[in-house]
Amino acid sequence: MDNPVTAAIRRYEERRGCRFRLEAILSDMDGVLYDSMKYHAAAWAATMQGEGIECRPEEFYMHEGRTGKATINIYFTRDKGREVDDEETSRIYAEKARRFVAFGKADPMPGAQRLMRRIKDAGIRAVLVTGSGQRSLLDKIEADYPGIFTPGAMVTAFDVKKGKPDAEPYLMGLKKGGVAPCNAVVLENAPLGVEAGVAAGIFTVAVNTGPLPDAALTEAGADLVFPDMASLYRQIDQIITYNR
Ligand code: MG
Repeated sequence: MDNPVTAAIRRYEERRGCRFRLEAILSDMDGVLYDSMKYHAAAWAATMQGEGIECRPEEFYMHEGRTGKATINIYFTRDKGREVDDEETSRIYAEKARRFVAFGKADPMPGAQRLMRRIKDAGIRAVLVTGSGQRSLLDKIEADYPGIFTPGAMVTAFDVKKGKPDAEPYLMGLKKGGVAPCNAVVLENAPLGVEAGVAAGIFTVAVNTGPLPDAALTEAGADLVFPDMASLYRQIDQIITYNR
């Protein structure tokens, strides 16, 4: 009998009508490579509260992956009955970024460095796909994940227009990785990121590193949900060697 990983890949192949063979991993950053979402959530909540908006940090885990403007607009539309213009967006996003940086450097997610090293050693390309425009983390990637992501293999807030949950970031990731959807895996922690990966037609693996229930990721369409990086690490060879 299939184990849960190979069974999930088989279901994906049936749904997509293609043969899965891993050539590139498209990895999200916050909540996957870095244990940074607690800082993003706290920075967002404090910033929006400063704008007179009632909200809690936990809410921002559900918005993770959206562009800054899209996130701000959800709250402005709800509480002020209007959208923000570009100037307001820049001001508010800069304040959120300032608060985020003030928390200090986020640590790599426990187990993520070993996982990415294993993937790279297996000859799999790695592409970073993040909605973040946080230079403090992007500049850190090479120090914490040496030789994993080449400079050309990154999709960031500076590249995307729509952001997650639109398929755009992961479609760009496929292009930068030079692979078809059936030769890639998306690695995500957020419901909207999962939606984006699935919308791009890619086998989407979620690692639930935050406070949301697993159901939030399953309902977003995740092909597999793991509780942490160590659990995914134990199964990653099943994905790497499938059809090989
Ligand atoms: Mg994330």
